[in-house]
Amino acid sequence: MTAGRIPKMKILWDYPHMANPLLSQQLVIDRCPHCNVANPTLEKMWESQTSRFDTTDTRCWRIYRCTRCGGLVSAFARSWDQPIGGMYPNYERAHESIPQKARDFLNQAMDSLQSPAGAVMLAASAVDELLKQKGYKEGKLHPRINKAAKEHVITSEMGKWAHQVRLDANNQRHADENASLPTEDEARQSIEFATALAEFLFVLPSKVRQGLKQSAESDPKPEGEKTEE
Ligand SMILES: [Zn+2]
Repeated sequence: MTAGRIPKMKILWDYPHMANPLLSQQLVIDRCPHCNVANPTLEKMWESQTSRFDTTDTRCWRIYRCTRCGGLVSAFARSWDQPIGGMYPNYERAHESIPQKARDFLNQAMDSLQSPAGAVMLAASAVDELLKQKGYKEGKLHPRINKAAKEHVITSEMGKWAHQVRLDANNQRHADENASLPTEDEARQSIEFATALAEFLFVLPSKVRQGLKQSAESDPKPEGEKTEE
């Protein structure tokens, strides 16, 4: 998550544990999708109504501004002050195919961006947990990452990337007392690395498995291609 990056856009409100917020004068959501501050003040700056070229699919849109970071959030609903049907950008959450403990660390890292030192430590804990899940259990993070790259569990580029981001784990903090506190941007980069590692190790393989299963179900082999019994 480098500075200025546009968070992923999602059309649907996909946080079933929360009721859809209303398209009111303020957008009441848990966290600002830009700065992750909890209970942000998102005040309306602009509004408009749109429809498709054939005048169907009318939607009411409002643009909101986070008073902390100045980031803009747009949201739409079928009519004013009704539950929203989507917002851009949306929050980012770690994918459900990531093992629970690593996912919790990742989500907490994303939620602690305003405390970059904490966020970096949480991202490092996520990396630690992801590596443990793949059998790399002993020692400090970087040697384990190197080993995973050498054994082609991750790509060599990912191994190099790991050395360019801050992964200050709890047990490494005291070893380097001169280390400066990480900035919010450094924390974003650490989280981005941890997320990419999780996607590479768990999310992508799970999507491939699901894709294979779906294509096998929807496209059975024609009669002629069946193996003879
Ligand atoms: Zn904000």
